[in-house]
Amino acid sequence: MIEYSTKSLVLDEENINELDKLVYLYTEELGKVVARAKSARKITSKLAAYLEPLNFIRVRLVEKNGFQIVDALSFDKIAASQQNLAISQFIKEMTAELQPDKKLWRFIRQSAEKNFSYRPLLKILGFDPDFARCHICDSPSVVYFFKNDQIFFCQRCFLRGSKVPKDEIVLI
Ligand SMILES: [Zn+2]
Repeated sequence: MIEYSTKSLVLDEENINELDKLVYLYTEELGKVVARAKSARKITSKLAAYLEPLNFIRVRLVEKNGFQIVDALSFDKIAASQQNLAISQFIKEMTAELQPDKKLWRFIRQSAEKNFSYRPLLKILGFDPDFARCHICDSPSVVYFFKNDQIFFCQRCFLRGSKVPKDEIVLI
């Protein structure tokens, strides 16, 4: 059984049964980690309050048939605005597990004082909007990013009725 202690941001959480939660973390040491938090839904659980999205926590994890959160302590947070929550989801979807990235961690950490924004994040993830072109007309003034296909669109082509589902698109 291996134990880790690392700073992390809670990206998302979901209930997996009556008592437990599945928590998506972006950790400084390990990159994205999906971990179980046992009994985190008990009203008496002191963990539960810390495992809300956009909380920075110092977390203790053990690895034994997957990761489990054994302890957590919050030390900072990002404002829970709609945009910040959406970008937190975006980070969850766009990163692979156990691939730590110091630049991404620094970006996440700095977002505690400002707000998240897509442009610098996309750049860190390897999709620099400054060098991107519209998938349809080749225009360099891109304003939308389509997650699934990892392509950009300009305003005009997007409004002209691309069939891309709206929830797959981010305005950058
Ligand atoms: Zn275009």
